[in-house]
Amino acid sequence: MAMSKTRHHSVDDLETLPRNNPCAQCGTPIPLPEWIEQGEGRAAYLWHCYACDYQFEAIAYFHDGDHEGHALAA
Ligand SMILES: [Zn+2]
Repeated sequence: MAMSKTRHHSVDDLETLPRNNPCAQCGTPIPLPEWIEQGEGRAAYLWHCYACDYQFEAIAYFHDGDHEGHALAA
């Protein structure tokens, strides 16, 4: 029996974390977001720059092909 690769979603989530986002004010790379809010099809990341103490939020949208698309088959 052939082994199939199993993808673990928890690992995927970690791998999709943004890293080293440049500060919106001074440009210093921030290694990891300070806070994450996961929503449906999107995630909001709160970045806190330790260099200038600036905080800003960035929202990422995910394109999940599992739910829609492929609906054109006759
Ligand atoms: Zn900064």
